[in-house]
Amino acid sequence: MPIDLSHEPRVEELARRTARFVREVVVPEEERYGGVAAAGGEELRGRLQAAAKQAGLFAPHVALEYGGHGLDMRGRAAVFEEAGWSLFGPLALNIAAPDEGNMHLLEAVSTHPQREHYLRPLAQGEVRSCFAMTEPAPGAGSDPTALSTRATKVAGGWRIDGRKWFITGADGAAFAICMARTSGEPGDRGGATMFLVDVDNPGMKIIRHIDTLDESLFGGHCEMVFDDCVVPDDAVLGEVDKGYDYAQVRLGPARMTHCMRWLGIARRAQEIALARASERELFGSRLGDLGMVQGMIADSEIDIAAARALTLQACWELDRGRSAAQSTAIAKAFTAEAVWRVVDRALQVCGSLGVSGDVLLGRFLREVRPFRIYDGPTETHRWAIARRALRGSRAHGNVT
Ligand SMILES: Cc1cc2nc3c(=O)[nH]c(=O)nc-3n(C[C@H](O)[C@H](O)[C@H](O)COP(=O)(O)OP(=O)(O)OC[C@H]3O[C@@H](n4cnc5c(N)ncnc54)[C@H](O)[C@@H]3O)c2cc1C
Repeated sequence: MPIDLSHEPRVEELARRTARFVREVVVPEEERYGGVAAAGGEELRGRLQAAAKQAGLFAPHVALEYGGHGLDMRGRAAVFEEAGWSLFGPLALNIAAPDEGNMHLLEAVSTHPQREHYLRPLAQGEVRSCFAMTEPAPGAGSDPTALSTRATKVAGGWRIDGRKWFITGADGAAFAICMARTSGEPGDRGGATMFLVDVDNPGMKIIRHIDTLDESLFGGHCEMVFDDCVVPDDAVLGEVDKGYDYAQVRLGPARMTHCMRWLGIARRAQEIALARASERELFGSRLGDLGMVQGMIADSEIDIAAARALTLQACWELDRGRSAAQSTAIAKAFTAEAVWRVVDRALQVCGSLGVSGDVLLGRFLREVRPFRIYDGPTETHRWAIARRALRGSRAHGNVT
């Protein structure tokens, strides 16, 4: 079937306006705070989001009834990439991780009362949220079936006990979506359930902020303890024991939206490198006239174009209701590595300027590095891609 990768005129117009807004309003704030979200705090988040609302750009991914623009995945690809031009662009448009993925999950899975209570204020930027799946070893990480946080049935609800870490945005979040095991044992492929846990639950505690390379995501990355954390029956998101199915609902699209946002930063890094290569003179020529620099610039153009095409193809499949497991894994694995290469090359082209605080390339490098690990490390995706390819080959009896 032919794949149509073009965008509707309304998406192109939204992407153009987003690009202008990010350059004129968001980039000056990003430069002022050096790309560190906590430095601007809630005041910065409120100011940027008010400006995005005023400009009619807020929550482009959310359904119209919750105040968004209702973009499908392909539409998001065009707009999120423009928002991702700045580290603070996604925050301004309310499309930053993990809130954006949580909104997608709540739209797909929650009950009407849950949507009114959790999704509506989240979509409006009135509150933030977090998604608590990963656990310290030997718990869930690359292998989610290792999930060891337990939820035990009690009268009228569930008691959650366990430990989570690297929970982005937990500090200041109004609620967490927590994955816990409701049946089976660590290592089993089923038996997980998602719970909505309010911040004022005395059984849910943040025990530390983890010091990490990256600092542009709001609320940091936290370690949390669930200790005798009792939630009512209506805190269950979807159905009991279906948590792994819902994780796929969230993670496939969330992987793609990470790719879209980080492609924006890759393009910005490339633009910084192009400007430097055009201006800087050495060895009697322009930097951009030297073959090895041209090679780096060309490789980055190829990486950006290929990452965008793979992401769009996976989005096209998702928009058709397909699981897109293979294409989202391919796009995520390629884009995470490609974005890292592009930013690293840009820094190299800029020489010592590249590592200085005078340009934000060093900050970008720190921000994109963990993307090779979260939402599935590259190795996990490559392993899964190969296994699917081998299964497909066996199913078609392709023996040479
Ligand atoms: C900045 C950041 C933010 C995050 N935010 C969140 C969040 O909000 N919520 C949440 O729940 N989690 C979050 N995470 C956790 C993230 O999803 C996990 O780090 C990721 O799933 C990997 O798990 P792990 O760290 O336990 O690594 P491990 O599972 O210990 O894996 C270690 C390494 O093993 C290798 N590996 C993995 N699979 C294979 C394979 N099949 N074959 C060969 N080698 C392999 C890879 O190199 C991998 O990096 C975040 C992580 C980071 C770094």
